[in-house]
Amino acid sequence: MAILNIRIIGDPVLRTVADPVTEFGPELAKLVADMTETMEDVEGAGLAAPQVGVSLRVFTYRIGGVEGHIINPVLENSEDFQPDQVEGCLSIPGLGFPVRRYRQTRVTGVDLHGNPVTVEGEDMLARCFQHETDHLDGILYTDRLEGEDRKAALRAIRNANYDAITEQTTSKRAKSVGTSFGGSSFGITP
Ligand code: ZN
Repeated sequence: MAILNIRIIGDPVLRTVADPVTEFGPELAKLVADMTETMEDVEGAGLAAPQVGVSLRVFTYRIGGVEGHIINPVLENSEDFQPDQVEGCLSIPGLGFPVRRYRQTRVTGVDLHGNPVTVEGEDMLARCFQHETDHLDGILYTDRLEGEDRKAALRAIRNANYDAITEQTTSKRAKSVGTSFGGSSFGITP
């Protein structure tokens, strides 16, 4: 297994709609294992394959002791929303804003062997599924902000020296970037 470098906003892979997985071999198993290890290393609550430079529909998650991966996820969301919570993202280090998300999510997909899986979640787990699936469609949580929050986020992204952060991440794996994603408490910024 290996710890993978996390791509930072500005990298085109984060804005690309990821391809469905069609081959369920050792390469996919290695990707899931490496993503899981990387997510644990940065104490992240979730990680989508584009965040490690792989444009495939795969994400891993780790919320409140529930850990796993979903391949080719399809979401069914409740019609109602949960209270807004601050989210961060490993690909946008140091930032956090409250995001509107559906209260409950059922995600169906397959595991790394191609076997069907269904997971239902509320609250943080549902939030995580929605956040990670957005990544597979090239969407970042900052795209979902409105009004003053959106302005503030765009300003912060413009002003942040993410090139320098990318170098730092590449050179020493920066556990610090993970804190923005909140670790055990998804999305609570330091
Ligand atoms: Zn993210």
